[in-house]
Amino acid sequence: MKILISGGGFAGMTAAYWLKQYGMTPVVVERAGSERTGGYAIDYFATAYDVGEHMRIIPELAAQPIDAAFLGFIESNGEYIARLYMASIRKAVGGKYLPLMHGTIEQALYHSVREDVEFRFNTTVRAVEQSPDSVLVTLSDGTTETVDLVIGADGVHSRVRELVFGPEQNYAHFMGYHFASYPLPNKYNLPRAWINYNEPGRQIGTYPNRVPGETVVFLTWRAEDTPVPPRSERAAHIRKIYDGMGWLGSQLVNDLAPDTEIFMDTVTQIQMEHWSRGRVVLVGDACGCPTFLSGQGASLAMGGAYILAQELDRNQNYADAFAYYEHRMLPQTTLRQAKARDFAGTFVPDSKLGVTAAHIGEKIIMRDRFTGLLGDFMMGDSILDTEGFYRLPESHDNLLGYRIAGKLKKINYETIDLDMSALVEKYKRVRLLIQLDDFRSIEPAALWSDYEFGREYRDAIAKLAVVGNTRLADWASRFAKPFYAQSVKHFDSDALDDAWKWLEPDAA
Ligand SMILES: Cc1cc2nc3c(=O)[nH]c(=O)nc-3n(C[C@H](O)[C@H](O)[C@H](O)COP(=O)(O)OP(=O)(O)OC[C@H]3O[C@@H](n4cnc5c(N)ncnc54)[C@H](O)[C@@H]3O)c2cc1C
Repeated sequence: MKILISGGGFAGMTAAYWLKQYGMTPVVVERAGSERTGGYAIDYFATAYDVGEHMRIIPELAAQPIDAAFLGFIESNGEYIARLYMASIRKAVGGKYLPLMHGTIEQALYHSVREDVEFRFNTTVRAVEQSPDSVLVTLSDGTTETVDLVIGADGVHSRVRELVFGPEQNYAHFMGYHFASYPLPNKYNLPRAWINYNEPGRQIGTYPNRVPGETVVFLTWRAEDTPVPPRSERAAHIRKIYDGMGWLGSQLVNDLAPDTEIFMDTVTQIQMEHWSRGRVVLVGDACGCPTFLSGQGASLAMGGAYILAQELDRNQNYADAFAYYEHRMLPQTTLRQAKARDFAGTFVPDSKLGVTAAHIGEKIIMRDRFTGLLGDFMMGDSILDTEGFYRLPESHDNLLGYRIAGKLKKINYETIDLDMSALVEKYKRVRLLIQLDDFRSIEPAALWSDYEFGREYRDAIAKLAVVGNTRLADWASRFAKPFYAQSVKHFDSDALDDAWKWLEPDAA
């Protein structure tokens, strides 16, 4: 199977690697002239780390971390409000964490595929024409390619998405900020740390670049949903916004050299209900950009690509593979995007009071003893651990579904409220409902809503699997039978696959 991948970033190269491993023929089309280096900092952890382990790139990454000892917030006089050491962050996400430059990750990914995968740099996709058996892709160099599938892994401003799914504005959710990033010689005696300084509506951060003697400046400011200025006007634009900023704020902007490349963009999520159309599928930022406010972009890009390739290998036909992939990744993406939207409200406070409140919060949370809270906040769980939760049973019509709550396998899940009325209306009958619940805390209101749920849907639900490790979960399944479904069973969370198997026609 020949698969054209538009975009050689995290998602594109991860997809290329795994498709090749599974015996398919990926071709990567990348807009840039060669593999990219440098860029901005990435907290590399969770799913991205796990996928990196499977690809054996961790030793290369671990040899090139950003040389920052801690994350700190400072006052205008440079005094620290709070500091969090990298060891604490690492502990918060279960030990697997690396602070890296974006380019370091891209290079390691490139090294893992360059021998086996065809790359066409300086090339983009111009047109995509689908027929029942193939896709005809016209490229910017004037050539055409006939392939079985196309993967759009070309980032937040994806061209494939635009060509096949429609304009960006249909899917863009602006988060209220613009950001910019650029390198500067470190003549300010800045520490080996990631430090941030806030004033109402604007934030400036610095951290050591991988290039010796350089620092990277990272700016985020509150803005309207307007396009970012062209490259030639960017320096003047940010000088205006950071005019008169305390600490080194305005100096770090005024000292910009005329020829310095400034990376600038809006902070915008991409939200889509479906990720494939015919033989074209999207992955990474192209379909689910969560923005840097989530810290989840690398995980969704690499995890999504890994799962997409896995499903293409497991399924006979691409449509099933796309359905499984979307089913496993979309709820994860939605959940992580929602967290980032919550955080966006307070990320750069817009008033003095807000800045003071943020300082109090930083003092509280940035302590060693709160690494658990920090881990929850960073969502340090790996999507790969939840395979069983999101993998559809063999038939994906006449489903469904799941209710997720509580704490299982050390992973926090938020309840995903399915619109059961709409689902029952659509499918008429729910063959299996999986309720993931340890029943660790029972609230009367939740019990009442469960009771009402059962009263309404009992007849439509054939089987209810209560999945949880506590004795209460077992009891709940026994008591539930008359109320919630025609048949109810309890499964330990490790036996989640058995819960899925219970759906099979010959299972009792
Ligand atoms: C400032 C910043 C900080 C971040 N911090 C973190 C973090 O700490 N942790 C984290 O997990 N994530 C972070 N992210 C998010 C993360 O970088 C992205 O989610 C991730 O890079 C997405 O990978 P991708 O492959 O989908 O897209 P990209 O990395 O954007 O790659 C897309 C690729 O497609 C190419 N391309 C674009 N258009 C075309 C075209 N028309 N034709 C061909 N090729 C094209 C591009 O050149 C690029 O190589 C951050 C993002 C930013 C901007």
